[in-house]
Amino acid sequence: MARRELIDYFGSLYMLGADVRLNEPLKWHTTIRIGGPASVFVSPYSCESLSETIGFLRSEKIPYRIIGGGSNVVCPDRYGGVVVSTRNLNLVKSSGERVLVEAGASVNSLLWHCLSKELTGMEFLAGLPGSIGGAVLMNAGAFGGEIGERVTKILYLDDKSRLIEIDGKSAGFSYRNSIFRSGGGIVLGAEFSLESGEKSEIRRKMTEILGKRLEKQPLEEPSAGSVFMRPRPDFYVGSTIERLGLKSLRVGGAEVSAKHAGFIVNKQSASQSDVATLVEIVKKRVRESTGVDLRTEIEIWKEVE
Ligand SMILES: Cc1cc2nc3c(=O)[nH]c(=O)nc-3n(C[C@H](O)[C@H](O)[C@H](O)COP(=O)(O)OP(=O)(O)OC[C@H]3O[C@@H](n4cnc5c(N)ncnc54)[C@H](O)[C@@H]3O)c2cc1C
Repeated sequence: MARRELIDYFGSLYMLGADVRLNEPLKWHTTIRIGGPASVFVSPYSCESLSETIGFLRSEKIPYRIIGGGSNVVCPDRYGGVVVSTRNLNLVKSSGERVLVEAGASVNSLLWHCLSKELTGMEFLAGLPGSIGGAVLMNAGAFGGEIGERVTKILYLDDKSRLIEIDGKSAGFSYRNSIFRSGGGIVLGAEFSLESGEKSEIRRKMTEILGKRLEKQPLEEPSAGSVFMRPRPDFYVGSTIERLGLKSLRVGGAEVSAKHAGFIVNKQSASQSDVATLVEIVKKRVRESTGVDLRTEIEIWKEVE
């Protein structure tokens, strides 16, 4: 984007009700700490403002991407379009056993809300670093549960910028998938159905899950979580990669985690291309040895001029 255009868009987007930053480093917004500047980084203050922002970007034909918690994406050295962050849409409120959550609220803030209201059913997600929007899109899951099991309603913006409300069953939840992953809808918020429970028991379950995460996952280093999807229920990606002797394999600053071979960690100023190269090496070795074609769970964003 030309400099003059950037300044024009700054004013227009700001007046739609958003925080706007120019040349914002994307590594500040991703858990793997990779990504150069986005020409414009915009964080709308309300769902209405987000809808108008998207409508504006679509009508101006400006390339854009949505970012939530940034825990599943690997960004390029430069993104010449607009990155729209949901981080200012973080309301969590409940009425009885129903909890309404805006898309940018973190999964963990939902869990803390549930703990304070003594609502049980989502403890399996304790410690998951994403936003509600990203988790719904991915049907995030852990330790035998998936977020989609608890979703009763979703409010989203469709590709024609219409506000649509659907029930959870219409979201097409399956393993790490929903209609939003392929259909391009933008999740604005979701409603969850939980049950009342005992505070001490909810706390115990959350602590247990956090303990498992700390034990198994390389939480002490920047990553984007599991790199690959499980191709079938009986195929364990991490242990397969480990068996092939690929733990600690390094390209530039990116390394297959020595703690959990299903993760790639940013050891030292890794770039997107370091991660992408490492991903290809691992996929090739797994294909040669098992005949299985791994698909990535992480998203490697394309560069935009
Ligand atoms: C240490 C670690 C552990 C993890 N453990 C797990 C785990 O146990 N289980 C699991 O499933 N995942 C896990 N993940 C991956 C990640 O946390 C989840 O996939 C999470 O749901 C991604 O949410 P996010 O908000 O960070 O999405 P982002 O990374 O911000 O975005 C991911 C995709 O969702 C899109 N998106 C984000 N918000 C919206 C929205 N509102 N509307 C439409 N599209 C949107 C983005 O455009 C992008 O395409 C882990 C990651 C890390 C770093």
